[in-house]
Amino acid sequence: MAVSFIHDVPPQRVVFGAAALARVAAEVERLGVKRALIVTTPGSGARLGENVVALLGARAAALHARAVIHVPKPVAEAGLAAAHAADADGLVAVGGGSAIGLAKIIARDTALPIVAVPTTYSGSEATTIFGITDGARKVTGRDDKVLPRTVIYDPDLTLSLPAAVTAASGMNAIAHCVESFWADGRTPVTLALASEAMRRFAANLPVAVADGADRRARGECLIGGWLSGCVLSVSNGLQHKLAHLLGGLGLPHAETHAIILPHVTRFNSEAAPEAKLRLAEALGGHDAADALATMLHELPIPQRLRDVGFDPAKADFVAGEIAAQAIKSPRPVSAGDVRNLLQAAL
Ligand code: NAD
Repeated sequence: MAVSFIHDVPPQRVVFGAAALARVAAEVERLGVKRALIVTTPGSGARLGENVVALLGARAAALHARAVIHVPKPVAEAGLAAAHAADADGLVAVGGGSAIGLAKIIARDTALPIVAVPTTYSGSEATTIFGITDGARKVTGRDDKVLPRTVIYDPDLTLSLPAAVTAASGMNAIAHCVESFWADGRTPVTLALASEAMRRFAANLPVAVADGADRRARGECLIGGWLSGCVLSVSNGLQHKLAHLLGGLGLPHAETHAIILPHVTRFNSEAAPEAKLRLAEALGGHDAADALATMLHELPIPQRLRDVGFDPAKADFVAGEIAAQAIKSPRPVSAGDVRNLLQAAL
């Protein structure tokens, strides 16, 4: 088949390095932001947010430590109200995909520029994708306004990431890469970035999980997280549609990605021989689905959908919703296929 693709990626400035957080004030100033709203999650996020407030000094308008996973609508509304109340002219999102996700929704509605300081491997900071949850339904969309203008990656901030969050988040990033290999929208750039990210994670994620203070492994995983975010916009097949739907039902995002990944890979890889080869190469010459299952098995995270609260009575609903999306790449997915996959992952 003749090669054909469209590569269309909006620009983004990336600052990477140990202690890079110290540059946050300079990066905010560079964007002309005078009153930043710092957006983060409660707990450890709030403590980090306070550091950012101190570093920004007069350029910090307020700290909003109320981000929640999947951005429930009331959380989005409270975030928007906080941005208006603070008269913010920019956003600094510090934390994982939850903090960045809330900043994105505020930016979608206000066009405020975002500086993102990611502390997990979710990759959200590198995409134009936003998500919001209304009841049990998660709605996503794309808008260039939500892409952070600047990303500051500081591996030191990830040293405190617990082993289980490190493991789940790393598998989430690997899922972005795996699906990008067989996605219709893949380009030579996404293939190269995904291979590179997979290689770094395969070598370093087990090290970072075993010893969270290993700075070299942390740095490598954070680079992997960045690169996996760069390919995520093409990864919108069965893996991501299913994780997204299950997330709407209240299942934890990264853990759910990790659990279904070997099963989705087994389902798809025979229909995507080139992807299978790339996966095997990146994972060290093994069968991709088996290698991912082994990887999952060795990580300190939930192994089965039943462990993360999936209600088997919802299988028909999930199967029907996925079948209605008529996913064809790399092979057609029927409701029966989804039921089988859920049963295997249960
Ligand atoms: P998260 O942001 O909820 O973080 C997971 C947990 O780790 C939280 O409890 C958080 O407080 C904690 N944490 C984060 N950084 C820490 C650190 N350095 N030290 C200690 N604790 C830390 O989870 P996530 O997996 O990063 O993000 C998931 C969310 O991101 C989901 O809503 C998902 O849909 C979204 N997402 C969006 C995109 C996109 O492109 N729009 C991409 C990936 C994920």
